[in-house]
Amino acid sequence: MDSIEKNKKLFIDEEAFITLSMLSEGLLYPVTSLMSQKEAEEVNKTGIYKNKSFPFAFILAPNGKRNEEVLKSVKKNDIVELVCQNKTVGKIIAKEVFLIDKKERVKNIYGTDNLALNGVKKTFQRLGNYAISGDLFLDESPIKKDIKRVKKAIKHNKAQKIVGITTNSNPFHRVHERIIRLALEENDMVILFLAKNLKSDGLAFDVRYKALDVIIHKFFPKNKIIIVPLHNTYIFSGLNEVIMDSIVIKNFGCNKFVMGQTHDGLGIHYANQHTKTIFDVLKGINLETITIHEYVYCNICRTIVSTNSCPHGSHHHIKYHSEAILELLKQGIIPPPILIRKELTALYLTSLFKNRFENTQKLYYDLIPNNGIIENIDEEKLYIELIKMYQTMSMT
Ligand SMILES: [Zn+2]
Repeated sequence: MDSIEKNKKLFIDEEAFITLSMLSEGLLYPVTSLMSQKEAEEVNKTGIYKNKSFPFAFILAPNGKRNEEVLKSVKKNDIVELVCQNKTVGKIIAKEVFLIDKKERVKNIYGTDNLALNGVKKTFQRLGNYAISGDLFLDESPIKKDIKRVKKAIKHNKAQKIVGITTNSNPFHRVHERIIRLALEENDMVILFLAKNLKSDGLAFDVRYKALDVIIHKFFPKNKIIIVPLHNTYIFSGLNEVIMDSIVIKNFGCNKFVMGQTHDGLGIHYANQHTKTIFDVLKGINLETITIHEYVYCNICRTIVSTNSCPHGSHHHIKYHSEAILELLKQGIIPPPILIRKELTALYLTSLFKNRFENTQKLYYDLIPNNGIIENIDEEKLYIELIKMYQTMSMT
């Protein structure tokens, strides 16, 4: 009997595993374990857990016939193995198994149960009919090393004022850079939470990470900025993104929050009525939020200004629209350096169009001024020199 009990297995996907890792590493504090039915109902009703805001019940209810059979057979104190991608990743010591209302669940997460919407449908399909609560033990965690790295840096800097900034940086443009600089002016450290989506149609995560790394190394005091992947699982969806971001950022050790937009839009998220309302009702999460005004390049002021501080009308303003800049890059067009640094354009284009030139070396020496000494030229170097030529003014 014992051996059969030990063999109870639940199969979970990567999204669930990452989300459980956040739970077990304390990033969702005060939620530290899978909620019981009573707790789940309470949180869904009130949006409060242990006197702090938490937008919806934290439960594990994986879909699938096999999972449902296992869950129906689970009794109190059973050990249930968790399997992700054919590998045992941890276990739960069961407390209870209970039926859930799948439609209500997606409504709590997204604010709607309209299954015609993509994210809603996907989350609905991932849900099973039964949830399990109990103590969670994971064998490994993809997040542990990030938490360690952040704690070490905070200690090393003796940082008191720590700003968290969420960003897609898809791509990273000059207003992103401006916002980081502003945050550093008055604070000890900036932690950049770079959205890592399980699926993404923009620039690959590694490329976006490398771009941030290049900028930090070249243009910032690098010990004061740290990049952390923010795994965008379903708990960060819909209306609750801001609350979940706040909770995770706070638990990483930040005490201030500059909000970027990490989901639908690709740009900076400026304070609007919706986000203000959310912060007004947040309870028990002690996090100062920094309001960002909209930044543009003004061709009269001839610099990046906030629309709050520049008297010239919008017909003088160049906007920083990430989606539009990304579109240029995807079409292989070099965006104006006023929008994006040449180092990054070179990096992005190289990653989007691998080996696009038949003979990079020849192209370089035919076009770019050089001293005749042949060196190894890669595509990045070619783009950078080309961009410099675009900026040559005398013939225009
Ligand atoms: Zn102006």
